[in-house]
Amino acid sequence: MTTATMIFENSVDFAKKMDANDSLASYRDRFHFPTFTENEVVYFTGNSLGLQPKSVKKYIEQELSDWAKFGVEGHFLAKRPWFSYHEFCTEKVAKIVGAKPLEVVVTHSLTTNLHLLMVSFYRPEGKRTKILCESKAFPSDQYALESQIRFHGLDPEDHLVEIAPREGEHLINEDDLINKIDQLGDELAMVMIGGVNYYTGQLFDMEKITEAGHKVGAVVGFDLAHAAGNINLHLHDWDVDFAAWCGYKYLNSSPGGVSGMFVHERHANRPDLPRFAGWWGYDKDTRFQMEAGFKPMKGAEGWQLSNAPVLGMAAHLASLEIFDEAGMDRIGEKRDLLTAYLEYIIDDVSKKNAERCTFEIVTPRNPSKRGAQLSILAHGQGKDLFDELTNQGVVADWREPNVIRIAPAPLYNSFEDCFRFGRCLEKAIQ
Ligand SMILES: *Cc1c(COP(=O)(O)O)cnc(C)c1O
Repeated sequence: MTTATMIFENSVDFAKKMDANDSLASYRDRFHFPTFTENEVVYFTGNSLGLQPKSVKKYIEQELSDWAKFGVEGHFLAKRPWFSYHEFCTEKVAKIVGAKPLEVVVTHSLTTNLHLLMVSFYRPEGKRTKILCESKAFPSDQYALESQIRFHGLDPEDHLVEIAPREGEHLINEDDLINKIDQLGDELAMVMIGGVNYYTGQLFDMEKITEAGHKVGAVVGFDLAHAAGNINLHLHDWDVDFAAWCGYKYLNSSPGGVSGMFVHERHANRPDLPRFAGWWGYDKDTRFQMEAGFKPMKGAEGWQLSNAPVLGMAAHLASLEIFDEAGMDRIGEKRDLLTAYLEYIIDDVSKKNAERCTFEIVTPRNPSKRGAQLSILAHGQGKDLFDELTNQGVVADWREPNVIRIAPAPLYNSFEDCFRFGRCLEKAIQ
């Protein structure tokens, strides 16, 4: 059954039927749902902080107990030796982002990784100095991009080019984006945009953008904060130069938890690339000879600075095991169906209450142009409506002046959650 052929109904029986046919339905039980709300929670903020897998506790307790038992010797004697703890994550993460194991590493936090990668891949020279990004990029990305430009003694005013939606539109027109790349031509050093826009939920054609960037001689990187664990990614095949993401959104790996980075295989063995180095990026076999002169690990691991924060890594590993078991193919199928159902519910509620309040979904209607997130513009009512939703037990995200962002996460949200959201929305309107 595909999303296109499905006829939905706004009823609890229908929602329950959908859940009964959902091969991922049992995964819901593997997560802790918040209990702080008066009414039963509808948790739709997995795009901001994923829920805690129940297995996380066991993974962290293992490290606490190994630390107690072995002290420093845990680096080699722990059940999962800390010296190479990040390696337990590598293959699982590689599958999630469509990469070869050599191309990924779990380390640091997202913004840190973006900086480390840009130090290597943003190399303004002569005429080729500009960065192309999306307008209203996530603030941390804006600061990172601006400071990278300043780091090279350049002015962001002149060297940071933003692509914005057309007048009166919410989404970036992809043709405009490609045309902009062509137009910048040999002035373009790097394209760096969010694979999924955090505000609108728009998914970009990363393969097409990468191809266009490479055609004019630019490097192409993506921030995948809202894409990793959400979108079926193929970073290797798409020929993307570099990417970074965080572990705590769709990947459910604890608040501020460890993040990941991707560096394409063709850059795997490039000791010539400038980088900010640390000992954990040093060739593993000779790391403890502690010699002067930096000899990087091959592949993404060569961008690591420090030894792994094992407790955070343990939470990440617990969650990655779940992704591995469920598989991104099944997750992607459910994502499209669940999001389409939520979209249908919102449209239905909007239609039935048109005289009071209307909703405009600004996220693309086309499932191939979005992930699990829907961003809703609430015309006529703003924060009051959102506060009432919160009272009903809905955990969603509010952005001024009147955008509600919701994301049904395929691993733990149900069709019944979508139905219940609709009921809460109707009550909130009234
Ligand atoms: C969530 C998010 C971040 C957060 O960065 P941290 O370094 O993890 O705090 C950065 N960029 C985007 C696009 C995000 O969505």
